[in-house]
Amino acid sequence: MNAFRFQTVPTIVVESGAARRLGELLREQYPARTRLCVVTDGFLAQSGLLAPALDNLAAHGWDVTLIADVIADPPEHIVLEATARAVAARAEVVLGLGGGSSMDVAKLIAVLVPGGQPLQEMYGVRKVTGTRLPLVQMPTTAGTGSEVTAVSIVTTGATTKMGVVAPQLFADLAILDAELTRGLPRAATAATGIDAMVHAIEAYTSAHLKNPVSDMLAVKALALLSRNLLPACDNGNDTAAREAMLLGAMFAGQAFANAPVAAVHALAYPIGGIFHVPHGLSNALVLPHVMRFNAPAAADLYAELADVILPGTTGSAGAKTATLIAHLDSLVLATGIPRTLREVGIGEADLPRLASDAMLQTRLLVNNPRPVTEADALAIYQAAY
Ligand SMILES: [Zn+2]
Repeated sequence: MNAFRFQTVPTIVVESGAARRLGELLREQYPARTRLCVVTDGFLAQSGLLAPALDNLAAHGWDVTLIADVIADPPEHIVLEATARAVAARAEVVLGLGGGSSMDVAKLIAVLVPGGQPLQEMYGVRKVTGTRLPLVQMPTTAGTGSEVTAVSIVTTGATTKMGVVAPQLFADLAILDAELTRGLPRAATAATGIDAMVHAIEAYTSAHLKNPVSDMLAVKALALLSRNLLPACDNGNDTAAREAMLLGAMFAGQAFANAPVAAVHALAYPIGGIFHVPHGLSNALVLPHVMRFNAPAAADLYAELADVILPGTTGSAGAKTATLIAHLDSLVLATGIPRTLREVGIGEADLPRLASDAMLQTRLLVNNPRPVTEADALAIYQAAY
């Protein structure tokens, strides 16, 4: 067996209704602290969904600074402004409460507040040098798995996305409350759920850091996600389906935090960066085409995943791979989200720019089971068009 290292968040609480006793849970975790910075987005802050959590925080003596201006694909200035507010509030604990963007910003606030290292020097793998503030994550979507990853994605400049990847970004505590995901609309449920499936698939086929623990988590994640995606889309109040999706997304997050994602994400980032297509949808648009491209190198692994999602599938590894891709295609079709780049407003003339931008994602492309050239990327976009 190849030597490997596996890291994850030390404490995980999975509890429906946990948000209603958030103050109590944080008091247990940090008995001597009081100043809490809650990082979320404007929609959640105005929705009333957070009110029970905020009430319970106050009841347990937490002095809360609410930073509610996180937007999707957060640009650098949002991160820096939020950090300045956390510094002014003398925050002692940071809580990310929302989708991937809110949790990603919370991670960066936690490492930026102690000071000493500018954000620009943190981009890349293991570039963060200092410590961080205590950090808690609480997702309101079942997709990014950001609550258990050590990655934070920032939009730099006009359209490019860069990642900070460092062990300091693992939180102390992740709290999963499926009640928080019940209000998520169908399209967002579908896109975030497919993102989580992509995390599991790419972790399982990751070129260098694939390991037995990530494999086990990816398999469990895919079983949960593939069976519960449509029930969660069809009935947003299906508690069992929502819980299964949240758990599956976390397992996938734990898997890819250690066996990193690859070309699906590398090709999805320019779609989000240039055209502001949500992350999960960007992944869904390129997924089947990247899998077809990868099949010559990854068919044996895809066949193992086909056995998980579609027990009883027969035939060669190539045949099982084709069945798996067709099944994933049919899942996406059934959710009703767009399936082509054209449907999200991308023109054929834009494809070369997407391909050249995708080549910048070297951090991800190195993990792909098959090397991707710019010509390959262009062909994949053309197939997705
Ligand atoms: Zn993703």
